[in-house]
Amino acid sequence: MAGNERMPSLMHGKIEVIPLLDGPLPSSLNKIPDPAHRAEAERLIAKDGTGALSMPVYAFLLKFGDKRVLIDSGSGRLGYDSLGRLPERLEEANVSPDEVTDILMTHLHRDHYGGLVRGNDAAFSRANLIIHEPEAQFWLNTDTSALPERARNNVEEVRRVVALYGDRVRRVGTEEIFPGIRARPSPGHTPGHVCWEVTSEGKILLAWGDVIHISKIHLPAPHIAMEYDLNPVTALQTRLSILDWVVDNNVTVAGAHLPEPGMWKVIKGENGCELRPAAFT
Ligand SMILES: [Zn+2]
Repeated sequence: MAGNERMPSLMHGKIEVIPLLDGPLPSSLNKIPDPAHRAEAERLIAKDGTGALSMPVYAFLLKFGDKRVLIDSGSGRLGYDSLGRLPERLEEANVSPDEVTDILMTHLHRDHYGGLVRGNDAAFSRANLIIHEPEAQFWLNTDTSALPERARNNVEEVRRVVALYGDRVRRVGTEEIFPGIRARPSPGHTPGHVCWEVTSEGKILLAWGDVIHISKIHLPAPHIAMEYDLNPVTALQTRLSILDWVVDNNVTVAGAHLPEPGMWKVIKGENGCELRPAAFT
C-alpha cells in the first residue's frame, strides 16, 4: 500500500498487531510430489480462476508497552527480488529497526530469517532473537548431512545469520516470553517449527508460520503435501490439529503465507476450512 495510507492494524486486546507484507514468493504445483495430490490441487486452483501460484510472505509487528516485537523478519536480500520489502513496511508503521526489541522466529527458513541481516550486519541492532530450542538445535547444532540438498544448503546461511545476534540469541521452550505470549510447538514443516500464541484480554491470536502454505489448496485439502515440509506426515498431523484448535477457539490467525491482509478467522464450511475477515481497525 502507498506510504501515505494508514497501515492496516488490528487491536488484539491490549496488543496492536500490524501485518508487514515482505512481498510475493513464486510457487508451483511442481512442488507437490504426489501426482494425485497435484491433480487435486490443480482442480482447486482452477476453481479459483487463476494460473500462476504465488504466496505472500508476511511478518508481523506487535506493539505493547515499550515493546516492539517482530514475528519473523521476511526474506531480506537473501531470497527472490520480489521479496525484502519489510524495511519499507516497518517505516510505514513508524518503527525504526533499532527500536525493535525482540524477534520471535516461527522457524529458520530463508523467507522468515533473511530479513535479520543487512549487508554483513544484524539488521536489528538491539533486538533479542528468540528461537524455539528444538529449531535452534536442528539448524545450529545438528549434523544435517543426511538431509535433502535444499535443507542442507540452508544450514550454513542460517548459522551465519544467527551468529550476527551473538549473545542476544535466546533459545526458549514453551514458557511465557511476555505475559500471554508463548510458543506452541507445531513440528513437521521443520522439526522445531512453532506458532506464536498471543493471548490478550481473553482473546487468542496465533501467528502460525507455515502451517498453511497455499490457502486455496491447504484449507480445503490439508492432506496435500508439498516439498516445503521436511516431514510431511508430521506436518499433516500438525495442520489438522492446529486447524481444529483455531476453529474451536475462535482464534485470529496471522499467517506467514495467508492472502492479504495476512490475518483472518478460520471457519469450517461445506468444503473444509475457509477464511473469514478478521476485525481490523
Ligand atoms: Zn515460509
